[in-house]
Formats: sequence, C-alpha cells, structure tokens
Amino acid sequence: MSLISARNKAVVAATSWKENANSNGAISQERVDAYFGCDVFSQRVMRQRLPKDVYKRLIQTLEHGEPLDPQVADVVAAAMKDWAIENGATHYTHWFQPLTGLTAEKHDSLVVPDGQGGMLYALSGSDLCQGEPDASSFPSGGLRATFEARGYTAWDATSPAFLMRGERNVTLVIPTAFVSWTGAALDQKTPLLRSMDALSKQALRVLRIFGADRGVHRVYTTVGAEQEYFLVDRNLYYARPDLVTCDRTLFGARPPKGQQLEDHYFGSIPPRVMSFMAEVEKELYRVGIPVKTRHNEVAPGQYEIAPVFEEANVACDHQMVIMETLKRVAPRYGLQAILHEKPFAGLNGSGKHNNWSMCTNTGVNLLDPQDETHTNMQFLVFLCAVIRAVDLHADLLRASIASANNDHRLGANEAPPAIISIFLGDMLTDIIEQLETGTPKRTLKGGAIDLGARSLPQLPRHSGDRNRTSPFAFTGNKFEFRAVGASATSAWPNTVMNTIVAESLDDVATELERAAGSKPSEAKLMAAVRTMLRKVIKQHKRVVFNGDGYSPEWHREAEKRGLPHLRDSVESLPVLKNRKSIELFTRYKVLTKQEVESRFHISIEKYCKQILIESEAMVLLGRQLILPAVHEHQQRLAAAVAATQSANVDCAPQRAALRQFVDLVNRFASTLDDLADADDSQPEGDTVEHARYLRGQVIPRMERLRALGDELELRVAAGLWPLPSYREMLFIK
Ligand code: ADP
Ligand code: MG
Repeated sequence: MSLISARNKAVVAATSWKENANSNGAISQERVDAYFGCDVFSQRVMRQRLPKDVYKRLIQTLEHGEPLDPQVADVVAAAMKDWAIENGATHYTHWFQPLTGLTAEKHDSLVVPDGQGGMLYALSGSDLCQGEPDASSFPSGGLRATFEARGYTAWDATSPAFLMRGERNVTLVIPTAFVSWTGAALDQKTPLLRSMDALSKQALRVLRIFGADRGVHRVYTTVGAEQEYFLVDRNLYYARPDLVTCDRTLFGARPPKGQQLEDHYFGSIPPRVMSFMAEVEKELYRVGIPVKTRHNEVAPGQYEIAPVFEEANVACDHQMVIMETLKRVAPRYGLQAILHEKPFAGLNGSGKHNNWSMCTNTGVNLLDPQDETHTNMQFLVFLCAVIRAVDLHADLLRASIASANNDHRLGANEAPPAIISIFLGDMLTDIIEQLETGTPKRTLKGGAIDLGARSLPQLPRHSGDRNRTSPFAFTGNKFEFRAVGASATSAWPNTVMNTIVAESLDDVATELERAAGSKPSEAKLMAAVRTMLRKVIKQHKRVVFNGDGYSPEWHREAEKRGLPHLRDSVESLPVLKNRKSIELFTRYKVLTKQEVESRFHISIEKYCKQILIESEAMVLLGRQLILPAVHEHQQRLAAAVAATQSANVDCAPQRAALRQFVDLVNRFASTLDDLADADDSQPEGDTVEHARYLRGQVIPRMERLRALGDELELRVAAGLWPLPSYREMLFIK
C-alpha cells in the first residue's frame, strides 16, 4: 500500500466533486492537485522529480524499513529543496513532538552564503536527515541533565514533508523524531514508530501461521481520530482570563438552556462556523490531510472534525496539524477554538475517539470480520489478541489517557467511564460464546429494516447496535478507543495500544507455533486455534461488557469482575512505572526503563503544574474581578436598604436579602483565602506526594470556591458581573 496513493484513494472516495469525476467516480489528477496534497512532497511528486533508481531505493527504504543510503538522501534533499523553493519556501524546519504535548519547530533558512560574496539555496542530505536543536528547555523527565543539552532530530521519511503557509511566508516542514544525544526518546514519535515495528513483527508471525505469502511483509496500524472542539466568539474569549490562561472556565453559572433539548447535535451548522470549517478543510487538504466529516456535537458551541484513517504515525502527525489548524484559522472568523477536555462545567466535554485497526501492506484490514465471521479464524485470532491485550493492560491504557484535563471528563455522565471495558456487539459476542463452548456454527445477521413507506429504501441492519457508553468499542471493522482526550496527542495512546497488542500477538503466535508445529495440516491448525481461542476467551472475557457503561450497576459489576477502576490521574499515572509496564515496554524495545520513568515524571509534573496554574488563576480571578464586582453590588443593595429605611418605609425582605448576600460574599471571600493558603503551603519534594496533596487539598477547595462564585453570578446585577456568561459564550455563534 503506497502511502500517498492510499490517501488519495481515500479522499477520492470521500468527496463528491461529481462534476469532475469520470464514470467510475475518479477525480482527475489535476483536480486532486488543486484541492488535495498540493503542498505535500508526496510520492507522486517524488516520482516526478527523482531519478528512477533513487526513487525506487527510497520507496524500498520506506516500505521495508531499510536504512537510508546517504547518497539517496542527498538527491532527495535537493529535489525537496527545489520543490519547496518553487512553491515559495524560504525556510525549512525539523518538526517534532516533544513531551510537552505540543509540536516544536526551529526554522533554518534555505539560503546560505556561498563563500564568495553571493548566496545560494541549499538543503543537503544531512540537513534533511538530522537536525540538532538545543534540547535543554524541553521536558526530559530526568533523562538528560541540562549540561548535556544536546538533542537530535531524525527525519521520519514515512511521514510526508509539507509546506506551512503563513502570511507572506512559506516554510518546508520535515516531520522528525527527537532524541537525546544518547539516543533516548525525548518525543512522542520515536516510541510510536518502535511500537509499530513491534506490532508488525508479531502480526506477521500470526499471518505466516495462516499461510500469508511473502508479498505480505508489513502490518501497519491504522488510526483515524475524530476530533471534538468548542468554538467561542473571540471577543468573549479575551474577556475570560480563565479561558485564556487555562483553556477552561474556572467559574461560570449554568445557563437556563444548556444541552437539555438536544437540539445542537447534528443540527444545521451556523454560517460563521461553516465558513470556518470550510477554510480549515481547505488548508488541511492542501497539506494532504484527508478530512471527511464535520458536524455539530452534543454541547452548544461544540463541533467535530474527522479525517479518513491513515498509517498510525502519519495519522498522529496529521492530528497535531489538525489541532494547530483549528486554532490558527478560527481567529480569521472572530472565533477561538478550544480543545480542552472540559472547558464548560455541566456540559459535554471533548474527546478524541481514536479508531484503530491493523492492515497488511497488501491492504487487508485484519479486523474486518467478513460475512461468515464464525469461519474466519484469522480474524478471530486478531480479535481475541486485542481482547487479551486490553484485559491484561487495562490499567496501562487508562494511564495512557490520564491528564488533569481528562479527569474532568472521564467517569462523568457523558464521557466514557474510567473503567476500561470492551463493547463487542451481539454478533461477535455470540461467536465468542460459541467458541467458548465448542465450534462456532453461525454468524448472526442483521437482516433488513423495512421502513414501511414505499418510497423509502430497505436498509440493511447492522448485526449490533452502537454503544456510546463504552470506552473501547468494536465498531464494524476497527476498535474505537473513546477515552482519549481532545487536547491529547494521539501518539501516546496508540503507542500503548500497539505495544500491548504486539505482546498478545507474540503470545498467540508462540502458542500456535508450539501446538501446531512448523508445517501443520489445516485440521491440526484449526484445532490448535480453537483451543487457544477458548483459553483466551475464558481468561479474558471479563473485560467484555455490552451494557450501559454509565450505570452504577456496572461499576459494582466491574469491581466484582476485578477490573481496575482508576478514578483519576493520581491513581492511574503511577501504573506507568509498574514492573509489568516496564517489562512490556522494554521487552518490545518500545521504551527503555529510563524512558518509561521519564514519561511518568513528565506526566505527573505536568499534572501538578496545571492544577497549580488553575488554582492560582482562580484566586486572581476571585480577588481582582469577582470580589470588586460583588462589593459594588453589595454597596448598591446596602445603599438601597439604608435609603429606604431612612425614608421610613419598611423593607424587611430586602434587609434579609442583603444579609444573605453578605453571608454568601463572606463565605466566598474566606474560601478564596483558604485556597490561596493551600496554594502557599505546597509540600516540597516527591511529585507523587505533591499530586496527592493537590488532589486532596487544592481541588476540593477549587470546587467549593467555584460553587460559591457561580451562586454569586446568579445574584449580582448582570451589568456588574465582570465575566461573559455561559449563555453568551455558548450561544453567540
Ligand atoms: P463513526 O460511525 O464511529 O463516526 P466512521 O466510519 O465515520 O465511524 O469512522 C470514524 C473514524 O474511523 C474515521 O476517522 C475513519 O477514517 C476511521 N476508520 C475507519 N476505518 C478505520 C480503520 N480500519 N482503521 C482506523 N480507523 C478507521
Ligand atoms: Mg466514531
């Protein structure tokens, strides 16, 4: 499967520029170029610009993961440079994903002095392959002392380079991995690539057992992430210091109308938002990102964008570009894009449903159940390997999506619960049950739905309904990990997914190889497969749950089944440095012990910093904006009462209201001081202790303060309240 052509196909399938399509729906290359990928140094561009043998050797490298010949690199670099300059680029950048959760870039000019008083354009093979940014200010979690600040970026040739266009500037963006001078991963991409290799290796073993031919030499993991986000009018955004600083509201009373009427979900898209979406899509098409779906989400002001899936590392790079593009384009329409997992209390949060599957280089989706699923033993082996992986490492999966932001979302009544379970649906559950007790004999069929009106078509019914309450659902021919947070990088949860499934495939392959021997007969192999599947199902079916994941009964049931329930980041992050996790990562060479530990430290430190920033922002907001407004209101009330009394008119109810109001203000002020005190007496030393302190002492105070602040908002004169309300932020579109 060639990278770019697969993606072009996807977009061709995804779009409906019918007027340009020939009879079988294909769009002319010219048209594709005009819309899609024209700012990408794609395989097609390379084919046009590189000498034939160089192109062939590069593709060899890409498809077989062989090391790149430096001479090939020189020729590719020269072609890339010419292409970039012809398209207006003046600079290039090695673009990477450090452990900040963002992307990083350092720009270098494509123009250099020629040593004879002139200038020339230059990008050498080594410029392309390796960069050396100063690593000292990126988080390393103790992997590198600041005096050893050297870091390297290494070209990821499997993720296409593209052009980033700003106002009157164009930069050539080269996707890279980022490592320390000792080779330790300081980024999200290095372990993701390693985990893809690990999975490919083990999946191929299983495929060989099933007789795959030599043409199958690689198994890719494929990822398509649905991105949810909010849009807020930019003027209102700037009037909310909490949104500006923390990306979420720290105060804000619930509006009378929130999402009760369920009238926003899939509703008609507001015109300003529609213009914004169209421009985002256009920019994404240009850089070769095949976005496909757009719609309103559940909460007012909430939307979603989803691309067509791609190989995991490309998809994860593209995810970062999608988030960045949403943020960059929104201001052109007077909007601010908010990617926080829970910007508004009491309303739906934002997630990033991570659709994940495995696909051979020949284009076969290994999680496609096909029609007669009960006979499709290869599929059932891959399915059960995933079930086994998720059950064995539910805690690690939970940890992979843990963050202070996501704590607001998981377990609340609209997002997946923090207990990891798998939804399989009726058809697969039925087959699993048959397998457990014998040889499966049937595949449940969905049949057709008769709509009862002559003019409507008969619809084929899926053999299972959807289940929105499951954190990890089988959805037709892929798994959807729904607990991933909207602002998170997809790379890390996918690294964990790939690694845990690699381990299960390894186990499964070893068992089958042992049971069936090297050249098994069909019958012997099938018997071995059935025995193995039965064992896996018996041991791991406890993780399968098709019911309502939000219900309290499930929480009790999950506990009975012994499934881990890690409620928040403080409980789940330490899973990373368990012996079991470290053994897993080191065994598959995805991360060394030090690299795992560094990730743990970075995550828990980030958690602490974030809570501290929020609590300090809250204290400032309370003192500098809310209290002055509240005092003003109090003064008005008091003046009215005093004036009324001195005019000898009875105003007992107003006096009582004033007393109540002052009481509320007093409680607000003392809770505010209390929070400030808690901020001032942070424990020194151990970060886990610190995180526990923040969760136990600071967060409850923040919650109390917020409740009081929100009560005040509902009582203070609207003209005095210093912050835009939820009503304004969510409904001015
Ligand atoms: P839903 O009904 O859950 O919205 P869609 O079919 O619209 O499902 O797909 C949602 C996402 O799943 C899209 O980004 C899509 O590209 C992705 N997806 C589909 N098939 C696969 C696959 N085999 N591997 C990974 N992602 C996939
Ligand atoms: Mg979905």
